[in-house]
Amino acid sequence: MEGLERAFAKMSPQDRVSRMKIFHLQLPTRSLLKRRGEVDNSQCLRCCRKPETFQHLFTCTNRLSQVAHRTALAQFRQKLRKSRTHILLIEAISAFLDQVHKRQKVEYVAPLLGDADKIRMTEQVFTQQLHLGKFSLHRGIITRNWMVLQNEFQHNDSRQKNLMWLRNLIRALWTYSYDVWVSRCKQVHTKNPDDLVSMNHEELK
Ligand SMILES: [Zn+2]
Repeated sequence: MEGLERAFAKMSPQDRVSRMKIFHLQLPTRSLLKRRGEVDNSQCLRCCRKPETFQHLFTCTNRLSQVAHRTALAQFRQKLRKSRTHILLIEAISAFLDQVHKRQKVEYVAPLLGDADKIRMTEQVFTQQLHLGKFSLHRGIITRNWMVLQNEFQHNDSRQKNLMWLRNLIRALWTYSYDVWVSRCKQVHTKNPDDLVSMNHEELK
């Protein structure tokens, strides 16, 4: 939960609402709409194979879903580079977002990216993150030890800079999830506009 207050601070009301929905698992997916009694079934409108939950937004096998996911992930990595995130952390966090649901044990960093100590430390933090849940990062829930690692590897020097880095990371995670959601809404809307009748415009934001 570290850094959450900072991440929410000074955010536009519109952004705050959408990020809150991501954090609290309140995006109006088909599963949520079904629970509210607004639609009859929760099936994903893109792959038509599984219920559309928050988790499914990131694992849908529909081709366009996957393209949108790749694009959001690439933009996320770009943001991490801009905030001077160490390469090992970029790889580890990206792999968590991209692969954590696919395997029991994620092989997330190539050994060439760092020395053995750094890789081992990154693995430990990765495991801690996993204890917070497989989709914790997608919601912006992170262990503060990412910040400790970043400081260890990249030497931000001041506490203020470290906290700023952490805030940027959480915001980048939310933007990533939000981008995936917006793509989903555009795709679903194009495919079958009638299915969006019950979803008011505000909820798409
Ligand atoms: Zn799907």
